[in-house]
Amino acid sequence: MRLILMGPPGAGKGTQARFVADHFGVPAISTGDIFRANVSRGTPLGIEAQRYMDAGEYVPDEVTNKMVRNRIDEDDAKPGFLLDGYPRTLAQVTELDGMIAFTGHRLDAVVVLTVDPEELVQRLIHRAQTDGRADDTEDVIRRRQEVYAEQTAPLIEVYRGRGICIEVDGMGEVDDVTTRIFDALDVVPQS
Ligand code: AMP
Repeated sequence: MRLILMGPPGAGKGTQARFVADHFGVPAISTGDIFRANVSRGTPLGIEAQRYMDAGEYVPDEVTNKMVRNRIDEDDAKPGFLLDGYPRTLAQVTELDGMIAFTGHRLDAVVVLTVDPEELVQRLIHRAQTDGRADDTEDVIRRRQEVYAEQTAPLIEVYRGRGICIEVDGMGEVDDVTTRIFDALDVVPQS
């Protein structure tokens, strides 16, 4: 199964990605988590990424694409993967198409979690209090929503045009959202 989990910051991608990946026996690949791990280890990639992350901006495509390409090449991702937080730009969509085509497979589905905007802000404020993520300050939260609307929301139309986009209501309890995602994906033929 080759899946993408999309949705605005605060939609619950990270939480759901783990459940969905386990369900299908594929690794959850979160570009945000990989960047954060590099930031905390102080690697050159982390140093480069941090200034963008702290500002709520996207890390440049060349950097992000190379990182994902390397991760997808690892053995555990051969049977499939679930991408959380990638692609986020049209250039990344094109790059991912190339990566998947190279392996002779196809993208099976793009799950988009929809959550109402006021709920998103509340969730992120709550996460700021509990997880202490560096980019969960009010200004940065707002900027990340804007960047999502400008650069990432248009991707939904692209995948809708390909007929592989599944919109799932991301409101309510975590377990209920997981069930909705499973119900939607269990009917998707796996490549
Ligand atoms: P996330 O944990 O997915 O919210 O990502 C946290 C931050 O990492 C984002 O605000 C970006 O700065 C950076 N990031 C994660 N994924 C990408 C991506 N696909 N393209 C560019 N920047 C990204």
